[in-house]
Amino acid sequence: AGTWKSERVIASRQGPHLHLAGGGAGIINFCANNYLGLSSHPEVIRAAVEALEKFGAGLSSVRFICGTQSIHKDLEEKIACFHQREDAILYASCFDANAGIFEALLTPEDAVLSDELNHASIIDGIRLCKANKYRYKHMDMQDLEAKLKEAQKHRLRLVATDGAFSMDGDIAPLREICQLAHKYDALVFIDECHATGFLGPNGRGTDELLGVMDKVTIINSTLGKALGGAAGGYTTGPKPLIDLLRQRSRPYLFSNSLPPAVVGCASKALDLLMESNAIAQSMADKTQRFRSKMTAAGFTISGKDHPICPVMLGDARLASVMAEDMLNRGIYVIGFSYPVVPKGKARIRVQISAVHSDEDIDRCVEAFTQVGRKHGALP
Ligand code: PLP
Repeated sequence: AGTWKSERVIASRQGPHLHLAGGGAGIINFCANNYLGLSSHPEVIRAAVEALEKFGAGLSSVRFICGTQSIHKDLEEKIACFHQREDAILYASCFDANAGIFEALLTPEDAVLSDELNHASIIDGIRLCKANKYRYKHMDMQDLEAKLKEAQKHRLRLVATDGAFSMDGDIAPLREICQLAHKYDALVFIDECHATGFLGPNGRGTDELLGVMDKVTIINSTLGKALGGAAGGYTTGPKPLIDLLRQRSRPYLFSNSLPPAVVGCASKALDLLMESNAIAQSMADKTQRFRSKMTAAGFTISGKDHPICPVMLGDARLASVMAEDMLNRGIYVIGFSYPVVPKGKARIRVQISAVHSDEDIDRCVEAFTQVGRKHGALP
């Protein structure tokens, strides 16, 4: 079906400019979640080396046996402070955080209401729990309200949504979701993997952007994207919830502690972000430059103001051929087609980073324009 995925091999650090194994040097990379360019930031690397030397390669243990070091506690405190929440708990990934929360929190008497386009890890986490499951249409508040009415018969209701959706670069209507949650006595959970560190005036995320930091109860996010890009995830929220997760969340209880070097990276990334929002502002400026120039060139870019900029093409073959041709011109982008996105909605997803230069952005737009004309995506 043309959907077999092959992996390109990078022979350099992650960054705006890559060296691909087998030849390609000086490739401009537009498909990492390295939104703030911290994956290879010198201070982040130095913090990792220092943590490695001081605390060792790893813990050879889960947290509750002998796998908790002072740096794990410090990072949890820093994350809670960053999000202005009571406490936080670390996981090996956000996939694990999502796999661990619903089962620990919800019983068969409860209900979870999930956006139909939520990330696979939320879907899997919900599958693991015994709560009653409701799926509402993507960002459709009428449908969410109908499902909330239906779910009144259950003991507790939890609305679960991505803050920013990774395939479309669109942002959940959190204000409306929180209003409905208030009206129908529900809790709100958001996955902030594509928001933490750069959305909102201080980069706190979608809840800050939309002015509902005090209304969202639970946040799950990753350390593996904007926050240094190494690995790791977390849940942050009310202390009793975090206490419960430490007792009951299976990916936390039965998996190794985060390696010190990884903790060091994330901790330094948060320090850099809390010092200044200049990096996030630079990313926002580059995003604006790309979106406006591509729109002027005649392309349709999905979403709004988000560094995930899906160039909508429709046809799967066109997306894959154009992405290949872009790489021939030194621009690394990836085409997405069914089943990753709905049939007939194939696209090339471009991701902007704070460390792209204006010239990088302009070269990308220029290459898209040439390739689009060549393959008939532009007149
Ligand atoms: N949630 C969302 C929305 C994601 O995009 C991802 C990563 O692709 C995850 C969760 C999983 O994050 P991690 O890589 O930390 O497991």
